[in-house]
Amino acid sequence: MKKVVKFGGSSLASAEQFRKVGSIIKADPERRFVVPSAPGKRYRDDEKVTDMLYACYALAEEDGDFSGKLSAIRDRYEEIISGLSLKLSLDEEFKKIEENFKNKAGKDYAASRGEYLNGIIMAAYLKFPFIDAAEVIFFDEDGNFDDYKTDKVMAKRLADEDAAVIPGFYGSMPDGSVKTFSRGGSDVTGSIVSRAVHAEVYENWTDVSGFLIADPRIIPNPVGIDTITYKELRELSYMGAGVLHEDAIFPVRKEGIPINIRNTNAPEDSGTWIVESTCQKSRFVITGIAGKKGFCSVNIEKDMMNAEIGFGRKVLQAFEDSGISFEHVPSGIDTMTVFVHQDEFMDKEQKVVSAIHRLARPDTIDIESDLALIAVVGRGMKSTRGTAGRIFSALAHSNVNVKMIDQGSSELNIIIGVRNEDFETAIRAIYNIFVLVQL
Ligand code: ASP
Repeated sequence: MKKVVKFGGSSLASAEQFRKVGSIIKADPERRFVVPSAPGKRYRDDEKVTDMLYACYALAEEDGDFSGKLSAIRDRYEEIISGLSLKLSLDEEFKKIEENFKNKAGKDYAASRGEYLNGIIMAAYLKFPFIDAAEVIFFDEDGNFDDYKTDKVMAKRLADEDAAVIPGFYGSMPDGSVKTFSRGGSDVTGSIVSRAVHAEVYENWTDVSGFLIADPRIIPNPVGIDTITYKELRELSYMGAGVLHEDAIFPVRKEGIPINIRNTNAPEDSGTWIVESTCQKSRFVITGIAGKKGFCSVNIEKDMMNAEIGFGRKVLQAFEDSGISFEHVPSGIDTMTVFVHQDEFMDKEQKVVSAIHRLARPDTIDIESDLALIAVVGRGMKSTRGTAGRIFSALAHSNVNVKMIDQGSSELNIIIGVRNEDFETAIRAIYNIFVLVQL
């Protein structure tokens, strides 16, 4: 059996953290494929190496003197190497990086060196072979991840290895240049490697013991989530719950490989299991609550709207023409509301309003701003009566006015629109009624 282990930046920020990672890997001989991030923050106000690399390259791009910034980056790695008493010289690597920076090798190349160098150190520390991600992860001409080619090449390359270190976050373009995923993309690499080696589990090691039912900045010490399905997680991460990169789910999902989120600083905690499906009941009716502020609702009214075929399409066309994606579209008999991101919509609002008038000829259009959307997610809701009732009575008792309700047909989630200023109160009320009362 094989396990893929991905370690985030804070798990690899110093020699001390590297040692913890080393003992986690040694504790289980199945942990054979390792995907490291770049060194992250050692303390709160510290800088991530990835951010240092972006800043350093920005200077190089303007033909500025970037030597000071590059040597500060090198110091971070040297500190790890000497702290681990490794006999490893990065002279050649830094010479190459400096040259490539001068030749303007690109922002993605620059950022990718964070995981590349950490991968070299990790491989030396574990005595595992190092495989450059540029040789096994591919993007197409348009810069989209090339799933097919990557899986084919990587599966073949890794079939010959008992163990390997593959740095996270990047791959290569058809012309050989380096391209990165979006920020936090080492999670995606871990998932791709897991699929290629048909891992039994993808362990994603970070600095928290898994997902929490609600944001700890709103709910002090919220309860953790033991098991969550891919679908539930997708709903929650879309609505702002962090920890795992959104795109990390897709590669393992195709193979039914579970993801286990673990804490490098508390390896004894079992963390959160992310699975395709489970007969394990969640401890509470709801699995999680997440949400975002900063939405606008565009309320459109027209008498006899319900009888007019094509009205909705014409309204949505007005948004599409301005390149604005919509979030939710609740409707009534003579009304239709379109929820959009306020910051995307703001500059284009008058253009959209006049386009709606032109295309759909409504009676009135009214815009309301500063709204928040909250998703209450749970596979348990399907088989439990009264969930919506409990949510709304809890909100009423907390004096929160509900502006919008949307229950997905999967009965996996209920989306609630409230005013931005009621966001935290609403989340607290929902958490209390489902979780706190049951503890
Ligand atoms: N180092 C990259 C970042 O800071 C990628 C990662 O850590 O996953 O975004």
